[in-house]
Amino acid sequence: MFLLLTHSSTLLFTLILLTPLPCIVSRPLTFPQVTKITITNHNIQHLAQAGKGSTVTGISEVKNYLSHFGYINISLHDNTFSDDFDTEFESAVNLYQQKLGLQVTGKLDSDTLSHIITPRCGVEDTTNVHPFHSTKHFLYFPGKPRWWRPMPMSLTYAFSPEDMIHSLSLDDIRTAFKRAFSRWASVIPVNFVETEDYGFADIKIGFFSGDHGDGEPFDGVLGVLAHSFSPENGRLHLDAAETWAVNFRSEKSEVAVDLESVATHEIGHLLGLSHSSVKEAVMYPSLKARDQRADLKIDDIKGVQALYGSNPNFRFGSLLESDISANEGRDLRVKSLRLAGFILFSFVHSL
Ligand SMILES: [Zn+2]
Ligand SMILES: [Zn+2]
Repeated sequence: MFLLLTHSSTLLFTLILLTPLPCIVSRPLTFPQVTKITITNHNIQHLAQAGKGSTVTGISEVKNYLSHFGYINISLHDNTFSDDFDTEFESAVNLYQQKLGLQVTGKLDSDTLSHIITPRCGVEDTTNVHPFHSTKHFLYFPGKPRWWRPMPMSLTYAFSPEDMIHSLSLDDIRTAFKRAFSRWASVIPVNFVETEDYGFADIKIGFFSGDHGDGEPFDGVLGVLAHSFSPENGRLHLDAAETWAVNFRSEKSEVAVDLESVATHEIGHLLGLSHSSVKEAVMYPSLKARDQRADLKIDDIKGVQALYGSNPNFRFGSLLESDISANEGRDLRVKSLRLAGFILFSFVHSL
């Protein structure tokens, strides 16, 4: 989808503007549900050239998108937006770019529009940001909620008996989630145990289509991929309309989405993490089709360990080595470990 932005002419962009997010606030039912926007090459050029003071068709839809994810307060607008590129919109674009780790231009440049059309998590971005130059990028939900159980903690999870997909086997789905849970369990003193008792499970996982009763309807293929609730709610919902994949060699669809990556991200929310602006982090809000991003990065780990403490068996060094050992040679590995050590050192001093 990114490539489309650079190749013009026949282009038709489906800009997916989402629906809801669960964790933070319940939205009024009158909230405009702009879930998908079509942007032609013509629109793209106009949007990309729009500056403060101009009026361009399509800006109202981008405003809807930004308000949906917490960048504009729609209640101040009588539930409608104009196509005016006003000061508030510029501030929202600035904040969005800062939050997503983009170059802060205050304009709808191609990189910003690329991110807006990239599939993502339905959970609202926490729009408070760390001070400039801070090396911390992870964030929490308001009030910093977490699970409170005696340590070491054990949480149960179960799959909905009714709300599942059939394009993947239950075994494949269970394996993907088991791996996703184990990533978090390896860094904090929290254990995750699957149970068949869905009603009493701490974490309830299901696949849903469209409006499924929590005020956060899914929007079909791509757009919003999944959402989950902050502690100690425990609900983790995936959009049943996606082409969920556990193996891209056998799943050739261009819109296939890696289940394990999304599961790992959503579990981060269940534990209390909000979105990160580190593009490589699991808690970064967007994930392109056919991409994988399931390995926890330092930002994810420091964030969740600040909530729960460290798993006594966890060592940063072993994680970093396993992270890079697959594709890189010995010399590069040594160099990377030195660099990683430096980054870790920076984190320690920033806390
Ligand atoms: Zn998310
Ligand atoms: Zn839901």
